[in-house]
Amino acid sequence: MDTRNALLPALATLLAGFLITAPTAAQQAQDLVGQVKEAAATKAPLGTPLMFSVMGLTKDNVEKVTRSLTSLTENVYVCSGCKHVAAAAGKCIPCDAELEAKRVPILFKAVPSFEESTIQLTPFAARTLSYSHLKDALTKNSIEVDDAKFPLAGQSRLVLSGGSLEKVKTIQKALNGSGFFDRAVASYDAVSTQTHVVVHAIATPPMYGRVATFIAALDTNATLVDVTWGPQPVVPPAKP
Ligand SMILES: [Zn+2]
Repeated sequence: MDTRNALLPALATLLAGFLITAPTAAQQAQDLVGQVKEAAATKAPLGTPLMFSVMGLTKDNVEKVTRSLTSLTENVYVCSGCKHVAAAAGKCIPCDAELEAKRVPILFKAVPSFEESTIQLTPFAARTLSYSHLKDALTKNSIEVDDAKFPLAGQSRLVLSGGSLEKVKTIQKALNGSGFFDRAVASYDAVSTQTHVVVHAIATPPMYGRVATFIAALDTNATLVDVTWGPQPVVPPAKP
């Protein structure tokens, strides 16, 4: 008997198994839902809730928008042994095991309201949410986010391009005197050539657009390019 022919049905069965087990987009979404539930059950700490006005929400696209927001993920590196989660790839020191990359949800909850034309978000405290990432996801669903109507609530980090080491103090001083924030701590990152400013908003947070205009008017060449919430890479702060 020809062994090749005998092997064919076995191969076909194997292939069919592969096709069935390959994760579909729907399954991946389901996995994320599961991860959110799991994190909620373990009472993972939550970050600052954000609420903002948008244009383009309808009764028909609310579900799709919710799904695209809850599908926002970031890469983390997990040790299969002790379950330690790290932000960067490498080895788990105590276990001496290679960390495995895993995509995890950024948002615990996303609630778009077409009646109010608003979106309410609750990120996980351990994840980093960026304004540009969020805006991209919404724009893909034809939802318009207005910089003039996006409040920089809680503690966030302003990402500025075009600044310099010499201008860091000027930027920090101006933002501390702006009335927008309780506190602003600026630092210059030579690697990315960006200026990062960790800010704590006052009770009524300033809008992204107002802060961008304020920074552009400082005559430091720095431009606001993004804002992030959540953990930040460690960079030494500028001396006041
Ligand atoms: Zn470990």
